[in-house]
Amino acid sequence: MAKILSPNYQSLIDSKYWENTSLSDMDAQQWEALCDGCAKCCLHKVIDDDAVETPHYTHEGEAGETVYFTQVACQYLHDKQCGCTVYTTRTQKVPHCVKLTQDNLDAVFYMPPSCAYRRLHENKPLPSWHPLLNKGKKSKMHQLDMSVRGKTISEENVFEEDLPEHIVIWPLEIAD
Ligand code: SF4
Ligand code: SF4
Repeated sequence: MAKILSPNYQSLIDSKYWENTSLSDMDAQQWEALCDGCAKCCLHKVIDDDAVETPHYTHEGEAGETVYFTQVACQYLHDKQCGCTVYTTRTQKVPHCVKLTQDNLDAVFYMPPSCAYRRLHENKPLPSWHPLLNKGKKSKMHQLDMSVRGKTISEENVFEEDLPEHIVIWPLEIAD
């Protein structure tokens, strides 16, 4: 069924606000609409504070930290729908759920390179598959494998100490 866009969302698309509004100047609707719904931020990460030579890093952060993505997802992620099942209460249910805001943009480097917030923060354009550039639809993102849909294992089935065995590189790939 075709998604029916709210008039507000359609006017956001028409305005192309992301091209001329800085992240710090965006209002709540503009900020929220930037999220592509890829759910890569719902994947568990492994942080290595030893300098390890590997192509898997997303960002070399503080004190030589290296962040690796795994295929293991939060228990509240619906893998097939690629969405959070507890969205409105997510930060209460999952204290480490990162809700990116204008006040914690430092956390943007723990987001994948395709994340819209991270891209704008790095002065890069939105990727061509982003829903804002595709009439609000996520189909192109899914087709290009830019989301986690169908690729995750629930954290309920993995011991924390085994997370390094589930490191994957696909969350770092970007199809522009
Ligand atoms: S990685 Fe960024 S764009 Fe993708 S769902 Fe998370 S916050 Fe949204
Ligand atoms: S609570 Fe929802 S948004 Fe937060 S990590 Fe889990 S699935 Fe993702």
